[in-house]
Amino acid sequence: MDSARSWFKKFHPKKDKMSSNKETDNMKDLYKPPVDEAPSNSTKQKVAAAKHYIENHYKAQMKNLQDRKERRWVLERKLADADVSEEEQINLLKYFERKETEYMRIQRHKMGVDDFELLTIIGRGAFGEVRLCREKTTGHVYAMKKLKKSEMLRRGQVEHVKAERNLLAEVDSACIVKLYCSFQDQEFLYLIMEYLPGGDMMTLLMRKDTLTEDEARFYVGQTVLAIESIHKHNYIHRDIKPDNLLLDRYGHMKLSDFGLCKPLDCSSFPNLSENDYGVGKDIKPTLDSDKHSNMPSAPRRTQQEQLLHWQKNRRMLAYSTVGTPDYIAPEVLLKKGYGMECDWWSLGAIMYEMLVGYPPFYSEEPMSTCRKIVNWRTHLKFPEEAKLSAEAKDLISRLLCNVAHRLGTKGAHEIKVSILQLSQVSIDPLYW
Ligand code: ADP
Ligand code: MG
Repeated sequence: MDSARSWFKKFHPKKDKMSSNKETDNMKDLYKPPVDEAPSNSTKQKVAAAKHYIENHYKAQMKNLQDRKERRWVLERKLADADVSEEEQINLLKYFERKETEYMRIQRHKMGVDDFELLTIIGRGAFGEVRLCREKTTGHVYAMKKLKKSEMLRRGQVEHVKAERNLLAEVDSACIVKLYCSFQDQEFLYLIMEYLPGGDMMTLLMRKDTLTEDEARFYVGQTVLAIESIHKHNYIHRDIKPDNLLLDRYGHMKLSDFGLCKPLDCSSFPNLSENDYGVGKDIKPTLDSDKHSNMPSAPRRTQQEQLLHWQKNRRMLAYSTVGTPDYIAPEVLLKKGYGMECDWWSLGAIMYEMLVGYPPFYSEEPMSTCRKIVNWRTHLKFPEEAKLSAEAKDLISRLLCNVAHRLGTKGAHEIKVSILQLSQVSIDPLYW
């Protein structure tokens, strides 16, 4: 109810004693007969947000009540079946009610940044930082992601962030980084997530240059499970890349960063078309040899040269506000409308990077990378030196292709079968 009241207050602000006459006049205006004028977009958005908030609030309350009733019913059944005296039954039920009340009080407690001891910074994102923190009452360690609200507003990502935060809280999968709670203050939105101490895949790849096919098979398999679990919730990640694949303390991988910080900002890329590589038409020639690689006759770097180049630029790209476009599917860049298949393209790009050392369409300039992606038919090449097996090349090629032919379009099982055809290494059956 408190929350409903605060919404009401927001819509009917009390007149401040110190408020000016001008403000009083404005208030009077409120009581004038309504002018037949359509509400502004911003008012409509506020109304929709309020409606959504109130509906969710009461839905959650009803669910809590139902869950509580069910818990009591289960306990009563168990007690009835067990050999417990009537007096003991009454005492146990009283104990149960006391615990339920305590639980509700804890749930009502509004978490805040003061409930946590802030430890070291473990990552930086587009809208803020990720920190290790310890909950003061329990001593449990979490990762706290702090997002600057003004930055989210400036980039028009508020609704996106809210919707995705809800989804992250909803999806309960071993392959997805768990979100425990979220709260906000004047300046920041905070997400309290499970802490994954193994670092991210981007760092692993930078450290190891390339993975063996067996290693790649393991991580690609786990990425498939993670993507599958979000698709089951009708959610498209759109931003799957090594920076967002985190490793837990057992070396298992989990997907994170549900577009919360860097929802795919396609507006950053000008309108592209599949014919954009037509040199001399749309692209001005530049001194950057990568841009020339749009031309069929461009001199190619060796795998080692390209790898060094990529590693030199990688972190800078990761921390840029737009993010790296290297893993984005062509249909997303072309803004033609896209579905879940776009995540399987990203998987193909990541697998390529795992085995070759850099992503398939890497270019010094992000725009040039975008052009290569939309013209993937010309630009997808496997360097000889990387010595990929025929099976690995086949799987990558069937992920980095047009939607109609892309593996995964009919479901994750299509990709699972192909992964099993790669060199044999056992994948943890628990996860498969
Ligand atoms: P952004 O979208 O701004 O890149 P991320 O959520 O990806 O933000 O976080 C940035 C980095 O912080 C990640 O690449 C990772 O290294 C680290 N990080 C994020 N979440 C966690 C977590 N739950 N546990 C450990 N490290 C994390
Ligand atoms: Mg990220």
